[in-house]
Amino acid sequence: MILRSLAASILLWLCVPAIAQAPSPAPLPFVLKQVGPGVYAAIDGPEHKAGSNAGFVIGDDGVLVVDAFFNVEAAKALVAEIRRLTPKPIRYIVNTHYHADHTGGDQALRDAGAIIIAHRNVRGWVRTNNVNLFGDRITPDLKARIAALPLPDLTTDKDLSIWLGSRKVVVRTVLGHTGGDLTVFVPDAKVLFTGDLLWRKVPPNLIDGSVKEWTATDADFAAMPDAAHTVYVPGHGDVADLGDVQDFRRYLLDLRRLVTDGRKAGLKDDALTAAVAPKLRALHPDWTISDRAAAAEIRYMAEELAGTKKRPVPQPD
Ligand SMILES: [Zn+2]
Repeated sequence: MILRSLAASILLWLCVPAIAQAPSPAPLPFVLKQVGPGVYAAIDGPEHKAGSNAGFVIGDDGVLVVDAFFNVEAAKALVAEIRRLTPKPIRYIVNTHYHADHTGGDQALRDAGAIIIAHRNVRGWVRTNNVNLFGDRITPDLKARIAALPLPDLTTDKDLSIWLGSRKVVVRTVLGHTGGDLTVFVPDAKVLFTGDLLWRKVPPNLIDGSVKEWTATDADFAAMPDAAHTVYVPGHGDVADLGDVQDFRRYLLDLRRLVTDGRKAGLKDDALTAAVAPKLRALHPDWTISDRAAAAEIRYMAEELAGTKKRPVPQPD
């Protein structure tokens, strides 16, 4: 017994310094999933430390990254994962829209050598309108971070083809989430990075959105050639398929219908939320719908239907 405990303490003594010298690396704030040959989705972890999803495409002569998470630390971890897979240069970061949970880590990608591509409206919004996203949760530190976000280097209001050697990546302008949205499609792998035009089983943030435009864009996603074999990487939630696109679109249509009915019954504000939220949850029992998210999206939907919804205004270059 004594011998055994002596052996155990020697073992402990031997092991402890070894553990102290080589701490296991911090877990990644995202889960990396290969969704096609050389195409990866980086899905926000269960603690939401990355803030959103991102991804990347490895071509013949370089890498294109889609979105940069909410913070530089998560984006640096993404760069490290890319470096683990390929020595090819990281040439582009495409921001699907201006929201800070997708652009917050841009500096890490720029430092890694990428040029920042975004919709032309992103330059006018990224350092200003992002403050609105946080409402009463904004802090001086967050304000300073937003004011210092990098501005995109290359902006467009048209579709773009980006060639990574022989590999084609198609950047498309789409309507619905902010008024400055891009998607990224990899035709040879049938992978579409949708940005926040698709959320999987979590309610979308409608703060800058138009549900009318949004549902039309999702109908386009579902009508893509070979949609049944397309992988959709959403802005939030796990890797999705055609069924998820249809489910998300149904969610938006249910929200619009329920809020329309509630307004017809003369309901507004808290009474409208109290009437609509349980019905929405009952129709989508496998979704995670927080009280805060439900209240916000019902209010924004009501504003859109009333014609009082404020959306970001494009700024001159
Ligand atoms: Zn967004």
